[in-house]
Amino acid sequence: MSKKTKMIAQIRNSRLCTGCGTCAGVCPTEAIKIHVSEGICVPEIDEEKCINCGLCVESCPGYSVDFKGLNMKVFKRQPEDKSLGNYLGCYVGHSNDSDIRYNSTSGGIASQLLISALERGIIDGAIVVRMKKDRPLETEAVMARTRKEILDASKSKYCPIASNEALKQILKKNGRFAVVGLPCHIHGIRKAEEVCKILKERIVLRIGLMCSHMVSFAGTEFILEKLGIDKKQVKALSYRGNGWPGGMSVEVNDGSNFSIPLLGTWNSYWSIFSSHFFTPIRCEMCPDQTAELADISLGDAWLPELRHDRIGESIIVTRTKIAEDILSLASSTKAISVMAVDPAKVRQTQGLNLKFKKDFLGSRLLMLRLFGYQTPKFNAPTDRMWSPLDFSRAFYPYFNIQLSSSRHIRSLLTHVPFPLFRLYFGIFKYLSLI
Ligand SMILES: Cc1cc2nc3c(=O)[nH]c(=O)nc-3n(C[C@H](O)[C@H](O)[C@H](O)COP(=O)(O)OP(=O)(O)OC[C@H]3O[C@@H](n4cnc5c(N)ncnc54)[C@H](O)[C@@H]3O)c2cc1C
Ligand code: SF4
Ligand code: SF4
Ligand code: SF4
Repeated sequence: MSKKTKMIAQIRNSRLCTGCGTCAGVCPTEAIKIHVSEGICVPEIDEEKCINCGLCVESCPGYSVDFKGLNMKVFKRQPEDKSLGNYLGCYVGHSNDSDIRYNSTSGGIASQLLISALERGIIDGAIVVRMKKDRPLETEAVMARTRKEILDASKSKYCPIASNEALKQILKKNGRFAVVGLPCHIHGIRKAEEVCKILKERIVLRIGLMCSHMVSFAGTEFILEKLGIDKKQVKALSYRGNGWPGGMSVEVNDGSNFSIPLLGTWNSYWSIFSSHFFTPIRCEMCPDQTAELADISLGDAWLPELRHDRIGESIIVTRTKIAEDILSLASSTKAISVMAVDPAKVRQTQGLNLKFKKDFLGSRLLMLRLFGYQTPKFNAPTDRMWSPLDFSRAFYPYFNIQLSSSRHIRSLLTHVPFPLFRLYFGIFKYLSLI
């Protein structure tokens, strides 16, 4: 095994891999392919094809992200705001196309900005992710070049997606492109741009989705099982949509349809995912909630004043000039409506998740090291290292990850009614807030 592929194998085997797909996307000989193992995306290496160029390792965000270095390279300064990172403006907004807004995750800003950028010739295409038509529980990253292709890929997918595998397509064709991804996808893209000049030239817009954590495919299967749906009979599935906050909808081969709200009722599914059941352990090591290295970051506008909204608003953080320009363009052409807000509002939307990512980082990493895990190196600007109370708060998600990774406990959990999950999560939330 070459030295470089050995390192990728080590990253995978020590569970430092985020499953972002960057290694496969940049490999010049297609020696790396991403496949799903135990419900998460991991790299598979064909040793014969490797020329030991090192691009995969140098681009990999799994074992290290030099936040300070990348902040300097991208923004030319360190962030004053350590919780949100560098930013130029904060907004709340939505697409003015009511179909896009209703059928997206929150305000449809991601899809709408991509459409506006395409129509104005700012980009030639965008890497987005959609559920596969022939295998509806699986996902694929595609290069969208039309409005329809962008809309076919709208809505958040709460499952693993190695979307950076599609960087291959950017490397193959000349043009200007946008990418959409979770914070760890954006880390991989920024790292890859440092070692691959073509990517730096061709990627002009990086849209980051705020992210508390991801859920493995076992999470989706668990919800289907609880709803009494045979996964082999699923014809189509979406995790969000139908207004805000919307929910999961499943179409089955016999023509029946199921839906389950994201939250807001005792029978919603988010409390299961919020408790970090079925979360990959690498997410417990992650320091980035708001996609700090993206050009623009988008999230759900979880604000008390918007709790009666049933169509959707996104929270928006612009970090670079191109993001400000595209937002102004979309706003001036009436494609979107946006309103500037105080950065405190952005923090409020991310609440406990932001606190968990930032304040408990030191405790989480220390706890995981004590349990024998290797942890990544983040040269991140952070003041707080750890405290005994943070340590106990960091344990709750870890405990739930361990519970849901046991096959036997998982089958026991399928008998627990949805309201009990909500109660369980509610108690943790209450304890964390006091
Ligand atoms: C796993 C996950 C966790 C999240 N956690 C939070 C959170 O803690 N707080 C918060 O405020 N928001 C979170 N979000 C973001 C939120 O769900 C919305 O994506 C965001 O509000 C943008 O909504 P929109 O209506 O503008 O996007 P849409 O117009 O619906 O477009 C979404 C875009 O994102 C792409 N996409 C969807 N899922 C993925 C994925 N898994 N990986 C890469 N690209 C994807 C789609 O292809 C599409 O281009 C999360 C999203 C995901 C996928
Ligand atoms: S680049 Fe991404 S997919 Fe590849 S090993 Fe690193 S974290 Fe995993
Ligand atoms: S990127 Fe280079 S070192 Fe990595 S697997 Fe491919 S050829 Fe080998
Ligand atoms: S928590 Fe971090 S590592 Fe996990 S999916 Fe989100 S951005 Fe990636």
